[in-house]
Amino acid sequence: MLLYNTLGRELQEFTPIQAGKVGFYGCGPTVYDYAHIGNLRAYVTHDILTRALRARGFDVRHVMNITDVGHLTGDNDDGEDKMLKSAEERGKSVLEIADAYTVAFFADTDRLNIVRPTIVCKATEHIDDMLALIKRIEANGYTYSAGGNLYFDTTKSADYGKLALLRPDEQKTDSRVEKDDNKRNQRDFALWFTKSKYKNQALLWDSPWGRGYPGWHLECSTMSMKYLGEQFDIHAGGMDHISIHHTNEIAQSEAATGKSPWVRYWIHNEFLVLDRVKMSKSAGGFLTLQVLVDRGYDPLDYRYFLLGAHYRSQMQFSFEALDGARNARRSLIDRTRSLWKKWKKANRAVSTESADPYLEKFNAAMDSDLSTPRALAELFGLLKGAEKGEVRPSAALTAVFKMDETLGLNIRRDVEKDEAAPKPVEAAEIKDIEEKIADRAAAKKARDFAKADAIRAALKERGVVLEDAPNGTVWKKLI
Ligand code: AMP
Ligand code: ZN
Repeated sequence: MLLYNTLGRELQEFTPIQAGKVGFYGCGPTVYDYAHIGNLRAYVTHDILTRALRARGFDVRHVMNITDVGHLTGDNDDGEDKMLKSAEERGKSVLEIADAYTVAFFADTDRLNIVRPTIVCKATEHIDDMLALIKRIEANGYTYSAGGNLYFDTTKSADYGKLALLRPDEQKTDSRVEKDDNKRNQRDFALWFTKSKYKNQALLWDSPWGRGYPGWHLECSTMSMKYLGEQFDIHAGGMDHISIHHTNEIAQSEAATGKSPWVRYWIHNEFLVLDRVKMSKSAGGFLTLQVLVDRGYDPLDYRYFLLGAHYRSQMQFSFEALDGARNARRSLIDRTRSLWKKWKKANRAVSTESADPYLEKFNAAMDSDLSTPRALAELFGLLKGAEKGEVRPSAALTAVFKMDETLGLNIRRDVEKDEAAPKPVEAAEIKDIEEKIADRAAAKKARDFAKADAIRAALKERGVVLEDAPNGTVWKKLI
C-alpha cells in the first residue's frame, strides 16, 4: 500500500515496524463544543485508513485521545483555554462540558459509520504519565523554566521542524504568533504551565514545577507512546497540525526517548472549506452533522460526499454538492438492491464464480494512497458490468459488500432496509404444508403420480419447494 508521508513529502510503500501489525494514533477532538463537519472529515479519513489497512489483513491498533485540558485557542500557547471558555459561557464545569461533548462526538462518528478506535484515552486521566514524560525530556537537557512555566527549547533538537520543513533561520522572524516574553525562541513551547498569561485553569495538578496543567502537544506524545510504544507506525491529523502541534510532538518525543524517527508515517488530511474559508470552531459559525440531519440528509450522504474527493484535496462544502452525493448514494443503493432482487429470484443460487477480479481494481485504488474517488468509480463499474450481464449477481453482490467493508457506506443495511425481511413461516402454515407433503407421499405410495405432482405444483405456486431426500421429503419456502 502506498501512502503519502508528510515526513519526506512523497508516496511511500507502507511497511509496519512489526509484520502484520499497525500502531496508529489519530489526534482526537477537543471536547469544548460539537465537532464541525470539517473536523469530521479528519475522522472519516482516519476511519478509511484503518478500514483499508484491516482489509489488507493488518491488525490495527487505533488510538485516539480526547483533549479535555490544555488546548488554547491558539496552537502556539496563545489565546484562551478552549475548555474553560466554553464552560464559562455555558455555566457548567469543565468536566461536565467535556463529558457532554465527548458523548456528542461519538454519536456523530457512529452516525457516520466510523469504527470506534481500539483505545480512546482522555488527557485528564493521564497526567501522571505526562509528568513522567516531562521528567525524561528535562533529564535529557531540553527544557528551561521561565515565568513559572516549563518550556521546551526547540534549538536543542537538531532537526526541529523536519516535518513542516521549517528553516532554523526563520526562528526569530516568525511574526505570525503572539510574542511570549518567557520564551527564549518564539517556536519554543510550554510543557507545563503554572502561570498562564490568561485566566487560570479550572483543573490543576501538582508537579515538580509547581501546581499547574500540561501543554496540549504533550498529551499526544504521552498517550500515543503509552499505548503504542516509543516508536510506532502512523500518526494522523488535519494539515493545520503539521507546523506546530505535530512538529512539537516529534521534537519532545524524540528528545525524551533519543529514538528517531518517533513515527514512521505522517498522514494529513486537507481542509473542508466553506466559502473558501477553513471551517473552524474557534471562528464560530460552523456546520454540525446534526444541521445536515435536520435538513433531511442521511449522515452517510455526508460520508459519501467526503469519499468523493481524495483526502489530500481541499473540499468546498455546499448543499448542492451534498445533494449530488445524496443522489449518487441513493443510486448506489437502488442499483445494488436490483441486483439483490435478481439474486433472490435466482433462488439465492450461490455462485462459485470468484469476485476477485472486480475487487482487485478496487484494492489497487485504495492501495494508491487511499484513492476513494477511484475506488467508488470501480464500484460503479462493477454494478454496470452486473447490469449488462457480464458479472453474475451473486459474485457482484459479494464484491460490493466486500468493497463496502472499506468504504463504510453501510450499503447492505440500506439495501435490505426497504425490503421486507423474510417472515418466519407460521405454525398453521407449517402444519398445512406438512399435511400436503403427507398426502403426496400417500399418493405416491398408491402410485397416483398425477395427484402427487399436482400437490407439488400447488405448493410451488405458494413458494414452497420440495426436495425428496432418502429419509423423507424436505421443504423450504422461498422469499
Ligand atoms: P480539534 O478538535 O480542533 O483539535 O480538531 C480535530 C481535527 O479536525 C484535527 O485533526 C484538525 O486538524 C481537523 N480539522 C479542523 N478543521 C478542519 C477542517 N476545516 N477540515 C478538515 N479537518 C479539520
Ligand atoms: Zn495531537
